[in-house]
Amino acid sequence: MQILCIGAHPDDCEIEFGGTAAKFAGAGHSVKFLSVTNGAAGHHTHFGPGLVEVRRKEARLAAERLGIAASEVLGAPDGALQPELRWREEIIRQIRDWDADVVLTHRSCDYHPDHRYTGQLVQDAAYLVQVPAICPDEPPLRRNPVFVYLEDHFQLPNPFQPDVAVNIDDVWCTKIAAMDAHASQFYEWLPWVDGQEQEVPGDGEARRQWLSAHWTKSISSAVRAALAARYGAGADRVVHAEAFQLCEYGRQPSRAELNEIFPV
Ligand SMILES: [Zn+2]
Repeated sequence: MQILCIGAHPDDCEIEFGGTAAKFAGAGHSVKFLSVTNGAAGHHTHFGPGLVEVRRKEARLAAERLGIAASEVLGAPDGALQPELRWREEIIRQIRDWDADVVLTHRSCDYHPDHRYTGQLVQDAAYLVQVPAICPDEPPLRRNPVFVYLEDHFQLPNPFQPDVAVNIDDVWCTKIAAMDAHASQFYEWLPWVDGQEQEVPGDGEARRQWLSAHWTKSISSAVRAALAARYGAGADRVVHAEAFQLCEYGRQPSRAELNEIFPV
């Protein structure tokens, strides 16, 4: 399968999909991570083109560590993305160019405007990827991809509904290694936002251990139930999971097919 994860920022795909992406890649599927914005605003001491280069390098290293096929950082302005036609068309071309079977993105009720508009842009592209007259320079897809949302914790207007959940315990270290590649995000920017810069260890292995502990999140009851539907009694022992919600746009696989698409 051809899998395309479209996040707003250069670390979003890793955070919500890194473990499952490593599993997809390990099973021989082609996974691409796409960041719509250039990551130029997410830092407290430096901004602009220099930071964009850092973010592109970090994204490449993360992709290498996950073993995925491709990673790309587009040029939309970080913190200022608008759901404009040019970005919709860019996303239509990206989905077609990757010949995507599955596309993942944010829900459009997320806290961050860049996440919201990325979700909106992907939803806007969901039908149009099949329409020949739209972006006629790139052939339309003859089969609509399955569109899937990444997990979030926002409750309004509707809470995230996990349609499928993946046990990522066996690839947790790989996911952490990919997040570790985004040093300017996970060791600098995000700790600064949270007022926790003093807590980040300087040493490589200690930093990765801190990252692993810091990003180990409790599994919601809804996700635990989705795990139980796939893994039975073993679901209780899962420590790390990623969950996904089927979008109402795009191809609508049965629950059984959705479970076949996602790795166990
Ligand atoms: Zn983000």
